[in-house]
Amino acid sequence: MEYEIDFLPVGEGSSSGDAICLRYSDDDGASWHVGVIDGGTQSSGESLCEHIKTHYNTVVVDFVICTHPDQDHASGLSKVFDELTVKKLLMHCPWDYVDHFFESVTDGRITKESMRQRLIDGHPYAYKIYEYAIENGIPVHHPFSDSNDHNIPYLDIVGPSGDFYLNQVINFRSINEVTEDSIEESSLLKRAMDAAMKAINWISEEWDDEKLVDPAADATSSENNSSVISFFNFDGKKILFTADSGTLALTEAADKIEALGHDLQSFSFVQVPHHGSKRNIGPTVLNRLVGTPKLIDSSTTFTAFVSAAKEGEPKHPNKRVVNAFKRRGGEVVATQGSTKYYYTSGTPDRGWSKAEPLPFYTDVEDD
Ligand SMILES: [Zn+2]
Repeated sequence: MEYEIDFLPVGEGSSSGDAICLRYSDDDGASWHVGVIDGGTQSSGESLCEHIKTHYNTVVVDFVICTHPDQDHASGLSKVFDELTVKKLLMHCPWDYVDHFFESVTDGRITKESMRQRLIDGHPYAYKIYEYAIENGIPVHHPFSDSNDHNIPYLDIVGPSGDFYLNQVINFRSINEVTEDSIEESSLLKRAMDAAMKAINWISEEWDDEKLVDPAADATSSENNSSVISFFNFDGKKILFTADSGTLALTEAADKIEALGHDLQSFSFVQVPHHGSKRNIGPTVLNRLVGTPKLIDSSTTFTAFVSAAKEGEPKHPNKRVVNAFKRRGGEVVATQGSTKYYYTSGTPDRGWSKAEPLPFYTDVEDD
């Protein structure tokens, strides 16, 4: 079977996002399934529509997955609903789940209705596409690894499970009161981070001396850890989309993939999570998912794509993370301002030149 996976660039400056589309043929090659995984910003959403019309030659999208409600993933999806015909939407709808977690967060002052409203107000981009789908009779499926009721061929949602999701949603920024103090604190933090960004110290890293360490369990925001993790099995070619998930979520996904009867460490294609941030991935989960480090100059065994803004460096992608994937047999390709494309033979020739993979970096960020 044939498939094409496209990562479109998101963002002009240093902020990253995801805008991904893919299509794959049925076993008999007679028909194509077209999917979108996140839409990035409004302008990348527009590019996504153009891309699907031009390269997939259709205005019909069989399924849209909104991995999590952050603006850099959800905003552009409204363009997809405006301009194309979407048949199915997979997204979490936290405003509909309040009954399931209300008891865990209530402080006695907040009602179920006000919590629901906070979740709607806090995620306007995701709520907009949810409303559009409901108003237009587009089926909405809840992408949890323990249900998988979406009927999309070759796709298994491998994360999050319902329980894992509920443990994340109770810590969402939108339902925890934001005080003036915490706003001030976070802008102070931002200034400190900006200063830190300007003064990067570099250290050297060798192939056999990994500097990437396992991040703390709370290094990933709850919103990011609630990301939908999608696993496609195309005739034994295994494809993993990780969105902005962190180590805990990825570990749960690894369990699920094994429970489905698939071996790990044998992917053809893996999305580097969270635009290549070192807060989402560490040696332990990488060893389990994609394999342990290989000897230097071993041939690559899989492709890893990272959605990173044109000026996203050094945070996105982090060089220790790029090295960690390369060390484990990955050929790492970053969007960084242009569309990157992974495909099988038999798909239409676009006449595009081969993407230049990122190098192994011998100098990496000190922290
Ligand atoms: Zn993101």
